[in-house]
Amino acid sequence: MSTDYQAIINRIKDEVKPLLTQGKVATYIPALARINPYRFGMAVYTINGELFTCGDAQEYFSIQSISKVFTLARVMDRLGDALWDRVGREASGNPFNSLVQLEYENGKPRNPFINAGALVITDCFIQEEQNAMSKLRDFVRACAANPNIDFDEEVAASEKLTGHRNAALANFLKSYGNLINEVEEVLDVYFHQCSLSMSCADLSRAFLFLANAGTDPLTCAAVCGPRQAKRINALMQTCGLYDEGGEFAYRVGLPGKSGVGGGIVAVMPGELTVAVWSPALNQAGNSLAGMKALELFTTYTARSIF
Ligand code: GLN
Repeated sequence: MSTDYQAIINRIKDEVKPLLTQGKVATYIPALARINPYRFGMAVYTINGELFTCGDAQEYFSIQSISKVFTLARVMDRLGDALWDRVGREASGNPFNSLVQLEYENGKPRNPFINAGALVITDCFIQEEQNAMSKLRDFVRACAANPNIDFDEEVAASEKLTGHRNAALANFLKSYGNLINEVEEVLDVYFHQCSLSMSCADLSRAFLFLANAGTDPLTCAAVCGPRQAKRINALMQTCGLYDEGGEFAYRVGLPGKSGVGGGIVAVMPGELTVAVWSPALNQAGNSLAGMKALELFTTYTARSIF
């Protein structure tokens, strides 16, 4: 019997309602602080092309760190193993914007999903692509099959004004010779990639290639190779939720990537993707109700990668 995804996500939406008041929206980016914390949306996309949505699944929000998967997919495809000379592949066990580890480890970030690592990936992306910003936007639009996806200039400008920690990380990387382009340029592209505005429906569509060995199952376009898709999923599993990767693996059991805009996307290889949005965050900077929603999703579908 096929799984009734619509009934499952409707039930989850009702069950997480009491949690929507418990987290806190990100305030360190002022433009994000204004978001209504009670929003909730969820979307499931199967590799057969079926989409199931509930709540605010069509609402655009700031994808923030989820964007790091898109830049990584591009850069891995272009650079291959050379990339790993500049960034590691281990969980950091530290908050996403931590500075301390970078000094201990001589300017080589632990992984591509903490901010320091993502800044290196963005630097590589700029190196590989002319007009990096519009190339990234085109790539994301193609993955999501939505030509209307765009940067949110207000969010990008807001983060630029207050992004002192990211500026510190970028300068630090530069001092270790691990940033090729100018700090200002890398930060500008980075803040824009984080500001990309997408819905749960868009994100679930855009991540389908990771559920299908690197190929978009609906257009049959190869987004990356099967080995890269496998590796990106592995990195999401170990590093995609910062210092809550263990908790997410334990409770959800799928590779996933979160952002401080309150989105989380998870991948069930060979089957589907699931995106959730709830802007109020827990202490680690991950969507509080979003974590629970994904936990319930793998409970009710009785599936995980383990
Ligand atoms: N733009 C945010 C930052 O750099 C992204 C962080 C996140 O989503 N975890 O701080």
